[in-house]
Amino acid sequence: MRNDMRTLVEIDNLHVHFPVTQGIIFKKKINEVKAVDGVSFSIRQGETMGLVGESGCGKTTTGRAILRLLDITDGTITFDGTDISKLSKKEMLPMRLRMQMIFQDPYASLNPRQSVIDIISDPLLAHRLIDRSERKDRVSDLMSMVGLDPRFMNRFPHEFSGGQRQRIGIARSLALNPEFIVCDEPIAALDVSIQAQIINLLQDLQEKIGLTYLFIAHDLSVVRHISDRIAVMYLGVIVEIAKKSALFSNPLHPYTKILLSAVPKPDPKTERQRKRIMLKGEIPSPLHKPKGCPFSTRCPYALPRCKDELPLLRTFDDDHQVACHLIKES
Ligand code: SF4
Repeated sequence: MRNDMRTLVEIDNLHVHFPVTQGIIFKKKINEVKAVDGVSFSIRQGETMGLVGESGCGKTTTGRAILRLLDITDGTITFDGTDISKLSKKEMLPMRLRMQMIFQDPYASLNPRQSVIDIISDPLLAHRLIDRSERKDRVSDLMSMVGLDPRFMNRFPHEFSGGQRQRIGIARSLALNPEFIVCDEPIAALDVSIQAQIINLLQDLQEKIGLTYLFIAHDLSVVRHISDRIAVMYLGVIVEIAKKSALFSNPLHPYTKILLSAVPKPDPKTERQRKRIMLKGEIPSPLHKPKGCPFSTRCPYALPRCKDELPLLRTFDDDHQVACHLIKES
């Protein structure tokens, strides 16, 4: 992945806050959950950006907000040079064709009462991109692209295995010929034996069609295989972004180091020497975020200033940014 590749998606100071209300008839806002709290990063055309963090850190909310499936509180999202953050639903329609999502749970994301041909052709018919006479051919092409036998297009989701159902979900997201796909933990609900097949399929499709991915996962070992760059998220903020090789060989943020210590090494000799660093305590509630560094309540290296001063994301090295008071800019 070259640094000079064109930026397709630019996220600048994204905030997504959800109000906490009290009362049944007259709802009064008493607090807010800052699920995403000032996130900035960019995704280059044709690359896979991994987004990693524990559940509840705001990564799925970030992915959905980028696609404008959620209202954003503040910040801008630029897609292929167009600021889409304030577009109305109608104005978003042409953009919807260009960006799609693959969901975590293939069991829950497919309508059990729809046959595969209906599931895959629905978005095409809704956007009037084909008429009914063309849908069999188009669905047949899409099923072949994701490794499914088109002869099964009249079957229902329950007649397929978990991996096949995820392939149906992928075919549906490809139907509109998108350029950018948010993959929200697409293998988390699948058997380990199937996970590699889905990752390989996503990589093959990226090569063939030139797709750009934001790949969300809770574990660094999953994004390792597919990502060009990786952003590590904690409690609504990005704490480190780097090329995959730099992140794995020289992690800088204490949280990234802890996540990496849980990733098995491919070489049995180094795997035997691997020391796992255990994370202390639970991720704090986004309702009660620490005042300074969000990781200060669990960080083994916390300094007195960490409790009060929020560390900003600063560039450490070429394409390597980190938000930690311990790390000095280069
Ligand atoms: Fe730890 Fe302080 Fe760095 Fe936060 S800023 S990760 S608390 S050392």
